[in-house]
Amino acid sequence: MTSINQRIAENLVRVQQRIVTAQEAAGRADERVQLVAVTKYVDATATAAILAAGCQVLGESRPQQLWNKASLSDLASARWHMIGHLQRNKVQRTLPLADLIHSVDSLRLLKTIDKAATEQDRQVRILLEINCSGDEAKHGLSSDGLKEILPQLADFPHVKVSGLMTMAAREGGTTTAARNFATLRELRDRVVPDCPPEVELTELSMGMSHDFEVAIREGATLVRIGSLLFEGCCF
Ligand SMILES: *Cc1c(COP(=O)(O)O)cnc(C)c1O
Repeated sequence: MTSINQRIAENLVRVQQRIVTAQEAAGRADERVQLVAVTKYVDATATAAILAAGCQVLGESRPQQLWNKASLSDLASARWHMIGHLQRNKVQRTLPLADLIHSVDSLRLLKTIDKAATEQDRQVRILLEINCSGDEAKHGLSSDGLKEILPQLADFPHVKVSGLMTMAAREGGTTTAARNFATLRELRDRVVPDCPPEVELTELSMGMSHDFEVAIREGATLVRIGSLLFEGCCF
């Protein structure tokens, strides 16, 4: 009999192996590619199983769900990443719980985060979410939007901008995904010279269950994987 824990542990090993293989194929074997295990589909028990299997960096896309799980003693060793849309009225409560916010998509949100971080006397690490697919339903700054706000980033001393995040278009398969990811990397390379010195865009958060190998080939440093880790036991 295969328990849920066992199944999740096997899924994790398989995903980690695929990450390493993709890194080797991309000539990036010595670089760090961080797996963010996306636990938004599963309950606290399955979330605890992925932790027990050895993955500590967990991602949630809804603030409320992140708050709830972060309050559980069984999940106390997790390091939480906020990967989904963050409403401004949820910033204050999210900051103390999140190690990294992947999804900052406006100057207004950035201002709110800096204000709350100042009040809470903390440094907050964030990524700027970019809409690389041109899909209007998706969140994210345009490349022009990014260029506009870059010079202003120095005005937010409590926010550390560490890189960029994107989601590939849903349609178009891995060819389109590869193009979207390349767009993010090229955009990063292009704007780096215009960044204030305290802004380092070293992180590229891109790639999910269906396209993480392509994302690693295109330079991802963080891959956000959910379904693959929990398939065969939780849904
Ligand atoms: C759900 C989600 C993921 C993980 O998606 P899977 O296809 O299940 O791996 C990654 N990133 C974001 C922003 C998500 O909302």
